[in-house]
Amino acid sequence: MSELNSPVLSLADVTLEYPDGDGTVTALDHVTINVDAGEMVSLVGPSGSGKSSLLAVAATLVKPTSGLVTIDGMEATGLSDKALTTLRRDKVGIIFQQPNLLASLTAAEQLIIGDHLRGKSLRAAASRAAELLEIVGLADSARKRPHQLSGGQRQRVNIARALMGSPSVLLVDEPTAALDHERSESIVRLLRQVTDDFQVATVMVTHDTEFVPLTDAVATMRDGVLAAAVSTMSPVGAR
Ligand code: ADP
Ligand code: MG
Repeated sequence: MSELNSPVLSLADVTLEYPDGDGTVTALDHVTINVDAGEMVSLVGPSGSGKSSLLAVAATLVKPTSGLVTIDGMEATGLSDKALTTLRRDKVGIIFQQPNLLASLTAAEQLIIGDHLRGKSLRAAASRAAELLEIVGLADSARKRPHQLSGGQRQRVNIARALMGSPSVLLVDEPTAALDHERSESIVRLLRQVTDDFQVATVMVTHDTEFVPLTDAVATMRDGVLAAAVSTMSPVGAR
């Protein structure tokens, strides 16, 4: 949230209403948040407070009722569906709680197919996949299928897959919900590392407030209202 750079991800006065019987439920209530390149923001708050809705709007998967979403200087809410799909494909990496890997594919293949669909050559995709699997600590597991991997390793494949398209923005929803404590910490540390190394703007929804000091700022959601992000001012060495 420096003043020098313009933010990579920006939600400005975003409101999202869902129909609910005769009325509406306000999932996001005039939410504003800016995230810079290389910045990692924790998003916390009770269940039903709107955290996943914020990620869905930031990912351009859901159009807000009002307000603006800007990614890498591109205002998303005015774009056609086709332009939006391209923006999402090229700029946004999404990591959900459950890795959703395809059972019949190896770790490397999980990464390669998406990139190949993006129009990259198989060879270029395979080389990028090998590079990313090494970064997430799975160089030796490239040929393993999901059932041969631990929960933590599957989440690492998921992270590597989200990075294949070199996104500017990384949106992560409860990445450690299915993991034990030790694996959770290593996953959050990995997300911190890739945020730094690839200079992505990362928002991570988490209920593990213990890992918040590994991130730069924490924003709290309550009933659709986002309290301004507060710097965690992590002590030197905490990363
Ligand atoms: P959180 O991720 O913090 O648990 P959500 O963003 O999932 O919160 O939900 C925020 C509010 O929006 C809740 O009241 C939820 O019931 C409602 N909501 C979320 N998704 C939908 C949907 N697709 N249709 C209708 N209401 C929804
Ligand atoms: Mg949620």
